[in-house]
Amino acid sequence: FSHIAHCDPKVHAFLELTEDKAYEKAAEVDAAIAEGRFDQMGVLAGVPIAFKDNLNLLGTRTTCASRMLENYVSPYTATCVQRALDAGSIPLGKLNMDEFAFGSTTESSAFGPTRNPWNLECVPGGSSGGSAAAVAAGMAVVALGSDTGGSIRQPGSFTGTVAVKPSYGVVSRYGVVAFGSSLDQVGPFARSVRDAALVLNAISGRDRLDVTSQNITTDFTANLDEGVSGMKVGVVPAFMEAQGLDPLVKERIEDAVRELENLGAEIVEVELPNAQAAMSAYYVLGPCEAYSNLARFDSVRYGYCDPGHRDLGSQYEASRATGFGPEARRRIMLGSYLLSAGVYDKYYYPAQQVRTLITQDYRRAYEKVDVIVAPVAPKTAFKLGELSDPTSMYLTDMFTISVNIAGTGGMSFPLPLTRNEGMPVGIQIISPQFKDENMLRVAAALE
Ligand code: GLN
Repeated sequence: FSHIAHCDPKVHAFLELTEDKAYEKAAEVDAAIAEGRFDQMGVLAGVPIAFKDNLNLLGTRTTCASRMLENYVSPYTATCVQRALDAGSIPLGKLNMDEFAFGSTTESSAFGPTRNPWNLECVPGGSSGGSAAAVAAGMAVVALGSDTGGSIRQPGSFTGTVAVKPSYGVVSRYGVVAFGSSLDQVGPFARSVRDAALVLNAISGRDRLDVTSQNITTDFTANLDEGVSGMKVGVVPAFMEAQGLDPLVKERIEDAVRELENLGAEIVEVELPNAQAAMSAYYVLGPCEAYSNLARFDSVRYGYCDPGHRDLGSQYEASRATGFGPEARRRIMLGSYLLSAGVYDKYYYPAQQVRTLITQDYRRAYEKVDVIVAPVAPKTAFKLGELSDPTSMYLTDMFTISVNIAGTGGMSFPLPLTRNEGMPVGIQIISPQFKDENMLRVAAALE
């Protein structure tokens, strides 16, 4: 906590510290050590962890970095958080994010932006920017974030952390404030692949409170030392030639691909013909799901209530107009329009068809390869305020979104800062659904 007190006034990764809970948990771990109860200690015993503020932790505020939930105190704990705590980790607090996870910079937080520890003038990425910055600055050893279209991987790349979005269904979404329920997945930020794998071991698996959670019993650390010899690594030419991809970022990815080849992997070109439509499909499906999920913040059951209204209609209107920030309002309006009669067939239905095509593209590609590697983001971290229009912000996710659409695993692994270009760059490694151990194995080989 003294390191956080020193560092966080500059970085602003934390929205709330949970010192009491941390000391209580640390005392439990200490007692277990003193009494030699090592067999009862979990894989994360004594590891300081922090949680994105859309994850419920009993008795803490879960604000989603929104005025709407500024005073909302969690009455329960999310399954992923509970599992991390049951594994012995020490909860440090709750982390900043883009409001309701809408964004790529953490600038849309109602409580002020988080800064990139590598350069305080730059954004840490988003929406899980607080999680990424906390780990990059050594304020937390590991952190949990969530990824709907890139929100774990992109901040991972911007901050040089290992950042894993597991396949959809690996981690329970119970207690995670929903953005796009068919896309959201929680995953770890860490300083090493093994640390990330250990967190995944703790938080993954079937939960009867989330029907989409799968019975995963994989030990994600099991094949980390196996190397990549004999593995087939896919490269998508259309990604590498994409317009807007910074030549320096491209070069770093190509270096990493060459290194994988030197380590014994076979590099295979694969096509994802429909991936270029992923962005359009996502900005239909995402807002539609968000619109529906955010309807619960009605100022009655949850959320900010604007005072002084007699009738329900004007209370809803005023509370939602002031409680939500501009990006949340934009997505709500977009979603409500896209789902309205007459419009639905023109956008939502085709977007679902595109989703099926992209999923099939990945399936076909994985008949030929064990993983696919790609850039995470077209550029390294940019300055605060640099991306002022929504469309250019949406474009930062061009390489990450199709992974959520297909429900497969994807991660960002930080490439070595060999050439002193300033900011970190991650390589994206993508695994077939429920073969998340493949991408971790490739990342471990690069480590
Ligand atoms: N940046 C994307 C968006 O704004 C993804 C966000 C996310 O993954 N939560 O929707």
